Amino acid sequence: MSVPVGRAAGVLRVLVPVLLLLYAVTPSAQSGPSAAWLAPYRGAAATLIASATGDDAAWQRLAELTDTFGPRLSGSDNLSRAITWAADAMKRDGLDRVRTEPVMVPHWIRGHEAAEITTPQRDTLTVLGLGDSVSTPAAGIEGEVLVVTSFDDLRRHATDARGRIVLFNTPFMTYGETVAYRTGGARAAAVQGAIGALVRAVGPMGLRTPHTGAVQYAQDVAPIPSAAIAGEDANRIVRMVARGQRVRVRLTLEGHFEADAASANVVGEILGRERPEEIVLLGGHLDSWDVGSGASDDAVGCVVTWEALRLMKKLGLRPRRTVRLVLFTNEENGLRGAAAYADHYAAQARDHVFALESDSGVFLPAGLGFSGSEDAHAIIRDIATLLAPLGLLEVRVGGGGADVGPIAMAGNAPTMAYLGDSEKYFQIHHTPADTVERIAPGEVSRAAAAIAVMAYVVAEMPQRLPK
Ligand SMILES: [Zn+2]
Repeated sequence: MSVPVGRAAGVLRVLVPVLLLLYAVTPSAQSGPSAAWLAPYRGAAATLIASATGDDAAWQRLAELTDTFGPRLSGSDNLSRAITWAADAMKRDGLDRVRTEPVMVPHWIRGHEAAEITTPQRDTLTVLGLGDSVSTPAAGIEGEVLVVTSFDDLRRHATDARGRIVLFNTPFMTYGETVAYRTGGARAAAVQGAIGALVRAVGPMGLRTPHTGAVQYAQDVAPIPSAAIAGEDANRIVRMVARGQRVRVRLTLEGHFEADAASANVVGEILGRERPEEIVLLGGHLDSWDVGSGASDDAVGCVVTWEALRLMKKLGLRPRRTVRLVLFTNEENGLRGAAAYADHYAAQARDHVFALESDSGVFLPAGLGFSGSEDAHAIIRDIATLLAPLGLLEVRVGGGGADVGPIAMAGNAPTMAYLGDSEKYFQIHHTPADTVERIAPGEVSRAAAAIAVMAYVVAEMPQRLPK
C-alpha cells in the first residue's frame, strides 16, 4: 500500500489516519525495517533491550544456578534441587501460576571409568563413557583396536571386528552428521561381534577434551560398552596403527540404570490480558549431562527464556496472549519432559501460537532460526528488525527444539530456535569444560533481550501469528 499524494488536504486528513491504523494492525502490509505495523511495539522493544543489556542480571542467575547445583543429570539430587530452586525463584520474580509438573525420568549413574593402552606400551587415555552405556565387567574389557572411519568402513572390515574394540575415528563435520557415530556406533560394532566401541569425541578438537552424550542401543543385538576418547588420543592410536603396531586397549565402565526417578518440568507464565488461553511457549532444558556444569547446555537456555518473562514482569508489560516458560526435564537422555508436556496439554495443542527454544548456546555471533509458513516467516522477519541494536544475524530457515517439538507438532505451531555460534557451542558441548566461564555476560543479555522482544510482539500483536 502507498499513501496517495496530491489529493485534497481534506481527503488526506481523513485517509491518512485510516491508513496508519491499517498499517498498525496489519503485519506485513509493508515489510522491512521500517514496517509501519511495528510502530506500536518499538517502545516496548527498546525498553526490553535497554533493560536486558543494562546489567548482568541474567549472567548472575546463570552463575548462581551452575555454581549452586553443578551438573544436573536426570534422576540426580542436583537436578531435583535445581527444580525446587527455579520454581521458588520464579515465584520471587512475580511470575504467574508457577508450578512444577511431575515427570518420571530415567536414572543413569556413570560410576568409575578408566581406559588405557596396554600394548605396545601402557598409557592412560582420556575417556568419558557415553551416557546410558552398559558397564564392562569389573576388571574391564581388553581387546585390539580396529580403527574405522565410517559405518561403511566398518562393513568393509566386518570380519576383523569380532572380539575387538572398534574405534570410530570420524572427524567432526557438522554435529548432525558426526553424532550418528556416538548414538549408533556401539550397535553397529556389536552387530559385527565387537566387544566394545570407542568414538572419537564429537566436537572440534579441544584441549584433550572428551565429549559424552547418549548412546542408543537396539533390540537386535546385545549392548556393548561404549565411550568417547579425546581427539588427540584417537589420533595417537590411528598413527600407531598406521605404523603397523597392534594397539590393545583396556576399558572399564560402571554405568548403569537405577529405577526411574521423580522429576518435573518447571512452568511459569505472564498470563495474557485478553487471550490468556493462547500460548506463546518459551523454554530450555534444566537437566544436563553429569560433567561440567551444563552451563551452555542448557542452563543458559533456561535463563535467557526465563529472563524474557522476568523483564516483562519487571517492566509491567502484560501482552494480549499468555507467555509461558517451561524449563523441561530430561532432554538429554529421554525427552520425557517434552513428552509429558505434550501429553498434559494435548487438548490445548492448537492454542500454542508459537514456540521458541534456546538449546544451541548463546555464543556470538548468534542468529535465529524459524520454521513455519512463508506468511509467518515474513512477520517474524519484520519483528526481527527490532533486534538490530543487538547485532543478530538474519532469521534463518529452520528452527525449533527437541523439547518444544512434540507440542508444536501436535498443534502445528510455528517454532523458533535461538542459535548461538555453533563452533564455540560444540567445542564444550557435553564436556567438563561446559562451565559459566565460557559464556560472556553480554552474550546472555543479548539473547534474553532478543527472545523477550520476539515473544512480546508475537504475544501482543492483535492477530495470531499464522500457522
Ligand atoms: Zn541441550
